[in-house]
Amino acid sequence: MAVTPQAVPAGVADLPSVDRLLRASETLALIADYGRSRVLGTFRDVLSDLRQQALQQQLPADAAGDAAIVDEARRRLLVADQPRLRAVFNLTGTVLHTNLGRALLPDEAVDSVLRALHSPANLEFDLATGRRGDRDDLVNDLLCELTGAEAATVVNNNAAAVLLMLNALANRREVVVSRGELVEIGGAFRIPDIMQRAGAKLVEVGTTNRTHLADYEQAVGARTAMLMKVHCSNYEVTGFTKSVDVAEVAGVARQHGLPTAVDLGSGTLLDLTQWGLPKEATVRETVESGADIVTFSGDKLLGGPQAGLLVGRADLIKKIKKNPLKRALRVGKLTLAALEPVLALYRSPERLPERLTTLRLLTRPMADMQSQAQRLEAAVQVAVGDSYSVRAEPMFSQIGSGALPVDQLPSYGLALRHAGSGRPGRALAALERCLRELPRPVIGRVGSDTLWLDLRCLESSDEPAFLSQLKRLTP
Ligand SMILES: *Cc1c(COP(=O)(O)O)cnc(C)c1O
Repeated sequence: MAVTPQAVPAGVADLPSVDRLLRASETLALIADYGRSRVLGTFRDVLSDLRQQALQQQLPADAAGDAAIVDEARRRLLVADQPRLRAVFNLTGTVLHTNLGRALLPDEAVDSVLRALHSPANLEFDLATGRRGDRDDLVNDLLCELTGAEAATVVNNNAAAVLLMLNALANRREVVVSRGELVEIGGAFRIPDIMQRAGAKLVEVGTTNRTHLADYEQAVGARTAMLMKVHCSNYEVTGFTKSVDVAEVAGVARQHGLPTAVDLGSGTLLDLTQWGLPKEATVRETVESGADIVTFSGDKLLGGPQAGLLVGRADLIKKIKKNPLKRALRVGKLTLAALEPVLALYRSPERLPERLTTLRLLTRPMADMQSQAQRLEAAVQVAVGDSYSVRAEPMFSQIGSGALPVDQLPSYGLALRHAGSGRPGRALAALERCLRELPRPVIGRVGSDTLWLDLRCLESSDEPAFLSQLKRLTP
């Protein structure tokens, strides 16, 4: 058999020196982009790999040329510089998807963050007196106005808020919680564990399905620091059940001169039923029911940045702010820059569904999503090819992040199914991976031999970007 020149492997001696590569004309542009030392290091890496291949007689001659090596170096530098944190399309149907970063910020908040990034800001500087200020003051008044609480403070997330609250108010003492509320939130947040880390002793009362007022009364003793209620965020106890509401628990606590704390989880500021969403106790209602401290997340239903908000009685908030953990768990200026404008939007509830991204997505009209699905159906069908069928279909979204876990929102989107016979699971997994490998990855949800692309979170402003990269899909 005749050996073509291409098939003769290159040897180590055929490889260029680093110096020659650095002098190559193609290298100039690389050095301009990445700097000499980084290009030099990359050349060394490429050459070392090629040398290994050459020693094993496996280096194709055309890979040993200067231009090929410079190309390979450019490819490696590009790959290395791809950001790890990337924008994706959330077509999972879960609006507040913890793994995809939960709430999206409204424009007002994004602009505010940019300003805070570019300029010095009065983060802890009182512009009225010229003295040192308190970063909580930036949102304290707004939070009090919106919740009816006396005072407020902000930390990194709600898990931190609960930890701080327990450590500040119940260290070495007992906290009474119903057995039906010992929740585990995704990512290893468990009430009993947090309690222990905070130095508080958990006193469980009642049973998993039923807890009575008398259970709380009997549990109170000399070492009790507080009674606590925790929102059953991600599950629901149904059937033969009994729980005691905040007002009743607070009544018992007050008789003993003890505070009541409520971990609300999602913490909505307004009654969502006015927009057709399920009922969820608001922070204000919880404060009015007699809770002395309420903790909740900034990036769940509230629709803001990741943060843990604590509101309640002024004396308790003061104590919490003095705790050394507050300093360790405090938020930075970016969080406060995002939080303030989001809270401010709540002052005009009528305009909230259009201005607050989370609420806009949760209340998207069905007709809107349906016509969008019908509009996109053909383009997606062309992109995925004949091996799959694409159909505009109704489906169900979830609010997510433990908010109203059992409730589902009727939605519309695209249902992608394997058209051929045999192994639909495998074909769908392959398609799902292709969508994830797009420049802006598309994340859907697989179930019932279908890849569901729920369009609730694909706003029309994002549609061109979604469509334009479809041509790169190679399933
Ligand atoms: C989500 C949640 C938490 C944790 O909040 P993060 O902001 O994610 O730290 C704590 N408690 C309850 C009840 C929750 O729903």
